[in-house]
Amino acid sequence: MKKYIIGNWKMNLDYAEAKSLLQEVAKAQDSFDKTAEIVVCPPLVYISVFHELLKNNEWIKLGAQNVYCENNGAFTGEVSPTQLKSMGVSYVIIGHSERRQYFGEDNKMLLAKVKAVLKQGMTPIFCCGEHLQVRKSNVFKEFVMKQIEDVLFELSADEMQKVIIAYEPIWAIGTGQTATAAQAQEIHALIRLRLEKQFGAKVSTQVPIIYGGSMKPDNAGELLGQKDIDGGLIGGASLDAESFAAISKVS
Ligand code: PEP
Repeated sequence: MKKYIIGNWKMNLDYAEAKSLLQEVAKAQDSFDKTAEIVVCPPLVYISVFHELLKNNEWIKLGAQNVYCENNGAFTGEVSPTQLKSMGVSYVIIGHSERRQYFGEDNKMLLAKVKAVLKQGMTPIFCCGEHLQVRKSNVFKEFVMKQIEDVLFELSADEMQKVIIAYEPIWAIGTGQTATAAQAQEIHALIRLRLEKQFGAKVSTQVPIIYGGSMKPDNAGELLGQKDIDGGLIGGASLDAESFAAISKVS
């Protein structure tokens, strides 16, 4: 399966900085793995300018960090799937732990968003993962499986095979503390097994399951070398073009 290297810039960088980082990434094409799918998810406010800047660029795909579940209407401050689609967006992060935690996004909302994004032919990147407390309590596997079941198991097999799952242990996000390759692989394999039971072998082998949580050039090789880790959702390290490129090349 193709490897997915997805940069989540979060709410960082002013316009000049964001534009310059995009240009650095674009210039570094030869440093990226040509076989990987490279996706950049800038703050939403820059999406239309990035769409223009990437007009002649075929290898950097545009992603959004969030979306609303309706296509238009009185939803002040929100951005719709059709609007993103019209700006050349092909990937949308849904259910990032920061959105669940700070903006109270629940499973019902996440399912509506996943469906709305799929309807526009874009790829949802559905995030799941446990807090440190849950990890320590030893029910973390059930916790993560339930996050997936409550949302993704409401989809048809046809819809499911168009989704990317990002496993992001919250204790590893932005902390510098990465899950070990074995810890990540254990959950990824379990997710794939549950997908197989629910949707069949074909879907389970087609759905990319990527890892997120302090992925950097020096730990990416081991993580991306695992059988069930199909790429990375990268926060901090994606703000540096050289590190972002290096992560794509390591495995
Ligand atoms: C993320 O925000 O999805 C993430 C994985 O961040 P970081 O790489 O900084 O831990």
